[in-house]
Amino acid sequence: MRPFVYNGQPSRVVFGAGALQHLEGEVQLLGASRALVLCTPEQQPLAEAIAQRLGSRAAGVYPKAVMHVPTETAAAAVAEAKRVGADCALAVGGGSTTGLGKAIALQSGLTILAIPTTYAGSEMTPIWGITENGLKKTGRDARVLPRTVIYDPELTLSLPVDLSVTSAMNAIAHAAEGLYAQDSNPVMDLMAEEGIRALAEAIPILRVNPSDIDARGSALYGAWLCGTVLGNVGMALHHKLCHTLGGTLNLPHAEVHTVVLPHAIAFNAAAAPEAMRRIARALHGEDAALGLYRLAKDSGAPVALRDIGMKAEDIERIAHIAVQNPYWNPRIIGPDTEVALRELLQRAWEGAPPAS
Ligand code: NAD
Repeated sequence: MRPFVYNGQPSRVVFGAGALQHLEGEVQLLGASRALVLCTPEQQPLAEAIAQRLGSRAAGVYPKAVMHVPTETAAAAVAEAKRVGADCALAVGGGSTTGLGKAIALQSGLTILAIPTTYAGSEMTPIWGITENGLKKTGRDARVLPRTVIYDPELTLSLPVDLSVTSAMNAIAHAAEGLYAQDSNPVMDLMAEEGIRALAEAIPILRVNPSDIDARGSALYGAWLCGTVLGNVGMALHHKLCHTLGGTLNLPHAEVHTVVLPHAIAFNAAAAPEAMRRIARALHGEDAALGLYRLAKDSGAPVALRDIGMKAEDIERIAHIAVQNPYWNPRIIGPDTEVALRELLQRAWEGAPPAS
């Protein structure tokens, strides 16, 4: 048995179809009496319904969450929380809304209650991100880990099917990289494999029947597990590449993860055989990278960077940036791997299957 360190993270999870019924009790349990409900403009009706349900325990609705938490958005939300005397940030939505809750918690120390409605997994991590002048700064801080998370699959029924598939692939990416993390441990390995299995089984069902509540439950359960892995162990090449592609070229978050994942996994395959075995087993297949590619393609998700807005001339630039600040990866990344990364990006750009 290899040596390891395991840190349990203090968050409470309430899971199940209809779990939103526990909201009032959970807010009370946190000792909160003025929750500011955060959401994106698109999810305002849901946030209003939640505020109404909370009655006098709601301090208002703040419907201004946007992707990547611009610093001005964060500052305005902190000011609003202060103005209304909020004692809890209640984030209902995807990673963008949870991210806004984290920005408030980081600056004001408010407790977060998260109600995730995508599979991005931010609610299970102590990782925050704030974007200033187009540059996203990220960090870890225990204060931004939501204290309570209510997972209600019924709230994901409205997630458009294309976004459901790519968001699920985004979640799988956390677990896939977690399986070869330098600081992984046996508990995270179990969660990662089970998370990939649950999501991979749900994706094809959601593609044909997005209203299947069992598949929605399975996907959200997988998202919880994969988000927990993201919050506990370090990520590697795949997440760095997606961060660079998203940040530098402003490509859509979940789609970038979907396209790049099979290629990053293929790149690392020879250096992480046990992780590959577990990913393949979770996919009920033989080959981890190919299995991920087929899962995305067969579910109608994008498999080519050129189809989600990347230009061919950016390949060289991104490969160059990706080797600039070396980081840990099972296959060493450095100036020598720039050519291999360019080839990886070329395949991902074209939508070719991952190199075996
Ligand atoms: P998102 O939160 O931006 O949501 C995408 C869109 O889907 C939004 O318009 C939202 O209103 C809508 N939406 C969400 N749930 C819906 C539902 N059930 N029904 C209908 N519409 C719905 O997207 P995301 O992929 O969840 O989050 C991406 C962001 O989260 C990125 O900025 C990423 O960097 C961040 N993130 C952070 C962490 C972390 O640990 N800090 C982890 C994962 C993602």
